[in-house]
Amino acid sequence: MRRRLEVLVVDDDFADRKIIRRTIAEKALNVNVVEATSVDDGLEKLREQRFDVILLDYKMPNVNGIEMVQRLRARAGLGSVAIVMMSASESEELAVACLEAGAQDFILKSELQKLNLERAIVHAQKRFELEHKLHQNYLDVKHIAEKDPLTGLSNRHHFNQLMSVLIPKDGSASGDIALVLLDLDNFKFINDTLGHDAGDRLLIEFSTRIKNQLRRHEGFARLGGDEFAVILTGIKTAEQAAMVAQRIHTALLAPIALGETELSCNASVGAAMYPLHAKTKEDLVKFADVAMYAAKRAGKGQIRVYDEMMHKDFSRQYDIQVGLKQHLQDAAFGMHFQPVVELHSGKQIGYEALLRWPDIAQHFVPDEFIPVAEKNNDIHAIGEWVINHAIAQLATWQKRIDFDQFIAINISPIQLQSEKVTDYIIERAEYYHVKPENIVLEITETALFEHHQIIKRSIESLSAYGFKISLDDFGVGYSSISHLINYPINIVKLDKSLFKMDESEEKRLSIFEALAGMLKRLNMTVVAEGIESEEQFKFCQRLNIDHGQGYFFAEPVAAQQIESTWLESA
Ligand code: C2E
Ligand code: MG
Ligand code: MG
Repeated sequence: MRRRLEVLVVDDDFADRKIIRRTIAEKALNVNVVEATSVDDGLEKLREQRFDVILLDYKMPNVNGIEMVQRLRARAGLGSVAIVMMSASESEELAVACLEAGAQDFILKSELQKLNLERAIVHAQKRFELEHKLHQNYLDVKHIAEKDPLTGLSNRHHFNQLMSVLIPKDGSASGDIALVLLDLDNFKFINDTLGHDAGDRLLIEFSTRIKNQLRRHEGFARLGGDEFAVILTGIKTAEQAAMVAQRIHTALLAPIALGETELSCNASVGAAMYPLHAKTKEDLVKFADVAMYAAKRAGKGQIRVYDEMMHKDFSRQYDIQVGLKQHLQDAAFGMHFQPVVELHSGKQIGYEALLRWPDIAQHFVPDEFIPVAEKNNDIHAIGEWVINHAIAQLATWQKRIDFDQFIAINISPIQLQSEKVTDYIIERAEYYHVKPENIVLEITETALFEHHQIIKRSIESLSAYGFKISLDDFGVGYSSISHLINYPINIVKLDKSLFKMDESEEKRLSIFEALAGMLKRLNMTVVAEGIESEEQFKFCQRLNIDHGQGYFFAEPVAAQQIESTWLESA
């Protein structure tokens, strides 16, 4: 049996209320009627009791029926009550207006007696249920549109909406906000090696751990892949932001059990603040990103709060990245050549080819732009340009004059990770008819040497083909004596920093001396770079160092300049 319906009749007209009661009684409907004589009375009754349907007179003193519907619908906790409007007027416009305001049905008072009142009531209720379901569906869709299905956190879209609410365009934001961005380190590696299921579980565990560190009202979103954002309110100083970021970061450090394996995965964290750093929502997101980028660059698992220096650094990196692509496309890079001298005779025996940023207002040196190119893999294309350009120059000089000197070309270890580079160097040498023994390939040692089989194979095949292999910048950073034994190395260049004039100069010169002695014993050709003074030159001569390079002899210059000095001396 259908449960009894609770109906509230709100009508100031006693006669109409009576008609409704009578109709209900006549038809023996399973309906309980409560009467209210005014809008306020009706609202009062609604507070006391739950109703299924309200029969509401359109024409009430003081308050218009539509306003009443709107007021009712705006009331929280009204529950699932359907509204049927009653009116003496037959106006269709009025009926539509009532429905639009939130009523489910509209009936004429003149038809109250004839009408199947039960049907009207039940229909109104059904319609309401349907609308309610539709609304629920809408909420579900909204949920799907706003939530990340894996973690249940807000997604990027919702995050943007939240940020717009917190920091409106008109500058009417009410408080201090810190935006913390987190990016998991090595997530791709875990996903690739342990599979996506493990990756998913890791992300869920991470979001739970972060959530546990936050207060309930703090915004937390997954922006994509392994990137998360936390919006903290009421944070005023960079120290406070750093403290919260540190707390979150620490919570992530404990290993995570994934089935049989235990994983630890760290995160890089960047934070920026409004209005301390950024004055708009867009800038806040950008600056937090800059801070996160700085954390990544500082090595993984770091926390950084935005500061202006960071921005300068970021802009430079960005300018380099854009410039690299542009200048490559325009073939705008330049090349300088620096003489290499045989120290005992003072005779020039070759040139080192050094890449130059185009001669434009914003200038960068190789020590700054080569690492960027290595990081974003532009080094492969740039390296090919260098190889081609340097070998072509050597061929030109060989054709023009009786030139039997070598050209030294710097090759990044990153380039050697690709097997293509070996073929490219050989192919270019053959194309320009240049003998491999006139080409020195200068490679800087890095940690990559340790485990990278392709690098080892590349060096071996280049050496077997006849190119001379030179180990650049020896004595600083990553230098391993075992490489001198395990790799086919002919030449070793002692790093120029060993000549640095400071309080530890004496110690450094002793190292220089010892290294030179050891390398000579291993039958390596030893080169000293960065010779700037006669004193340094003499010192190298005394140590029996084979070749030298530095401003004392000549600075790196463009090919035309070298050619014009030849003409002068001819
Ligand atoms: P590097 O291969 O050790 O090159 C020697 C660097 O020392 C050059 O700097 C040169 O200009 C500088 N130098 C020469 N003589 C002196 C001197 O007497 N005193 C001082 N203080 N410096 C001197 P540059 O041209 O700025 O290049 C820096 C580094 O960038 C190079 O160090 C090399 O590692 C890298 N690099 C340059 N060109 C290329 C390239 O085409 N490809 C790759 N992969 N790396 C390159
Ligand atoms: Mg070099
Ligand atoms: Mg060097």
